[in-house]
Amino acid sequence: MADTAFRPGSVAIIGAGPAGFSAAAELRQRGYAGSLTLVDPAGQPHDRPPLSKAYLAGTLETSGLALAAPDWFSANAVELVTGTALAIDPGAGTLTLAGGTVLQADILLLATGGAARTPRFPGTARVQTLRTKSDADALRPQLGAGKRLAIIGAGLIGAEVASTAAALGTAVVLIDPVPVPLVPAVGQELAAYLHSMHAEAGIKTITGLPVDVLSGPKGSTVLLDDGSLIDADAVLAAVGMVPETRLAEDAGIAVDDGVLVDAAGRTSHPRVFAAGDSVRRRTGGVLARRSEHWDSAVRSGRAAAAGILGEEPEPDAVPWFWTDRHGVHAEAVGAMAAEGETVERGAPGPGYVVFRTAPDGTLAGAAGIDAGNTLRAARRLIALKKPVSKDQLSDPQTDLRRLVRSRP
Ligand SMILES: Cc1cc2nc3c(=O)[nH]c(=O)nc-3n(C[C@H](O)[C@H](O)[C@H](O)COP(=O)(O)OP(=O)(O)OC[C@H]3O[C@@H](n4cnc5c(N)ncnc54)[C@H](O)[C@@H]3O)c2cc1C
Repeated sequence: MADTAFRPGSVAIIGAGPAGFSAAAELRQRGYAGSLTLVDPAGQPHDRPPLSKAYLAGTLETSGLALAAPDWFSANAVELVTGTALAIDPGAGTLTLAGGTVLQADILLLATGGAARTPRFPGTARVQTLRTKSDADALRPQLGAGKRLAIIGAGLIGAEVASTAAALGTAVVLIDPVPVPLVPAVGQELAAYLHSMHAEAGIKTITGLPVDVLSGPKGSTVLLDDGSLIDADAVLAAVGMVPETRLAEDAGIAVDDGVLVDAAGRTSHPRVFAAGDSVRRRTGGVLARRSEHWDSAVRSGRAAAAGILGEEPEPDAVPWFWTDRHGVHAEAVGAMAAEGETVERGAPGPGYVVFRTAPDGTLAGAAGIDAGNTLRAARRLIALKKPVSKDQLSDPQTDLRRLVRSRP
């Protein structure tokens, strides 16, 4: 570990999602012994992925959303403050909570995530969104036999809610302007297969652009740009998220569709760090797009912890995300939209993997279904930049883990 010259006496983390919590844990892991405060309106750090899956289905209790056992915080001397930060003053090292309490800290870490994006049409008040536990609690009673749910947006969250809702007996209509969503994330072949699973589960998929949600005598009606109408008891908009950057903006910290940070979470102010879904990283002169996935939020929290202590963060990881729907676990690593060629392994179904090879013969990305070992190995191969042959990739008998271990 590098330079440990600077150790702040106090750190306050704003936001206790995966990024803020992992930053707190990493600070202690790296031996930081100063005061550590975690501020969140919900108090205890909690997770989001189950909100569209097991928690929404009713098979996971609230306690299952916790990112750590309740006694972890006292054991690690992390003070939990239930509250919302209204403003930060980096020069003075303060943050002001709703209600007026002012907390003091040498270093502030912004891990504020984001809010669900709401569609911009007149009837936007008639749509629900899903980002928080209370959003999931509000959506849950709308699901079940005899109920109709229209979902705008068939990306990751929209598709997961569709799957959960259909499994509970809800009549689901899933609307998206593109015929096959998620192509950039998982590639054309896997995206087409995943999307086709909706129809098999009894979900009606519609390609169209919603332009409004009207109130009807029995619920709501989604109006599409071709004039067609879809009646539903409830309408969910799952059309992405907006990063929560207001605290940074108000404090004059550089923001461009996300708080701008380097590889160690440093913002444009030396006493303020940032991590998670609300940041955009600039490394090697390249400004990356925001990531909105769990693994990257956790890693960026850990990187910011290293940065706060003046230490080297762990090396960058190849991007990874997962999604669960219709009883399958899909994962993607690397860049499936990279320039190159596609190689398929197996046939659509469990074990099916699609690879994206780069023009230089290395692997750029991989995405698959119920194929954890292969995708973990693919992630390593991408990180190692090892050349791979199309025959090896397409042959289900070739264990990619052997290629990882083989000499270059
Ligand atoms: C329904 C759903 C399902 C998902 N499923 C998957 C999945 O299957 N796979 C995957 O890879 N990713 C998934 N994700 C994405 C993943 O959950 C996010 O990438 C991750 O939660 C981001 O972590 P974060 O800590 O940056 O932000 P968040 O989890 O949003 O946490 C930010 C926290 O900051 C708090 N906060 C904001 N402003 C303030 C303030 N002013 N003062 C105090 N606190 C504040 C918020 O209340 C929140 O608790 C899912 C997301 C959602 C919403």
